[in-house]
Amino acid sequence: MSEWVEGRVVENRRWTDELHSLLIEAEIDTFTAGQFTRLALDIDGERIARPYSLVNAPGEQPLEFYFITVPKGPLSERLYALTPGAPIWVARKPAGHFTLANVPAAKTLWLLATGTALGVFVSLLKSGELWQRFEQVILVHGVRSDEEKSYADLLAAMADQHPGCFKVIYSVTRPESGARPEDRIPVMIADGRLQAQAEAALTPESSQVMICGNPQMVNDTLTQLEILGMRKNRSRQPGHITTEKYW
Ligand SMILES: Cc1cc2nc3c(=O)[nH]c(=O)nc-3n(C[C@H](O)[C@H](O)[C@H](O)COP(=O)(O)OP(=O)(O)OC[C@H]3O[C@@H](n4cnc5c(N)ncnc54)[C@H](O)[C@@H]3O)c2cc1C
Repeated sequence: MSEWVEGRVVENRRWTDELHSLLIEAEIDTFTAGQFTRLALDIDGERIARPYSLVNAPGEQPLEFYFITVPKGPLSERLYALTPGAPIWVARKPAGHFTLANVPAAKTLWLLATGTALGVFVSLLKSGELWQRFEQVILVHGVRSDEEKSYADLLAAMADQHPGCFKVIYSVTRPESGARPEDRIPVMIADGRLQAQAEAALTPESSQVMICGNPQMVNDTLTQLEILGMRKNRSRQPGHITTEKYW
């Protein structure tokens, strides 16, 4: 059986000049919330493929992906230009270990994302399992400006559905007033602002933390969490932190 399925774009939803979501009809194998598949286009006779997290809950159609356009990026600029009806290759087999199966039990689950990594957390939030396993879920979305708060309506609806259990906190690093490096997620953890805004403890006893996105944020946040006594989850030695980097 072929590695690739030919899908078709159903909608290209623009959030900003750089951010968009593609809805694609394609019959791929079943996946677990938190996994990714690969998307590809044939460009100048070559199939250019990149991994992308699914935004969906398992079983949902059409498939949904959330993107940023990277200037001069070989694939992302072309994805932004796709219109309904356009063909696109989708890898049949989803993959990845950034799933709840690898996250031990805790009272609080922290989901820390920068930019497009929000998508993988929307998938986890849409899956029923998360709400059964954790008393409290805190999603932190690092964005450069207010206009990048994609999926805000969906997140607000989820907060209404899970009163007292779900909080969304934004870390806006470049508001109109100028750059605010002090509002980056690792800095907010270091000075305790994130914990105060969440009204929740961030300790090895209380929390599991999933971090996804920009590798600099993932590394800096990991360092801060280690200072708080947390460590990475390993298959033979459960800890408190699960990570995925996008580049
Ligand atoms: C497991 C996994 C899941 C991913 N899921 C997503 C996703 O859901 N949405 C998404 O937009 N990207 C995602 N990516 C990144 C994606 O695969 C591509 O790298 C990205 O779309 C750029 O592709 P490109 O061919 O245009 O440029 P590339 O040559 O692939 O990347 C060029 C540069 O762009 C920057 N970059 C790449 N991805 C991002 C990003 N997401 N945000 C900001 N800067 C970036 C990096 O500096 C990178 O070196 C994921 C990557 C991995 C490993």
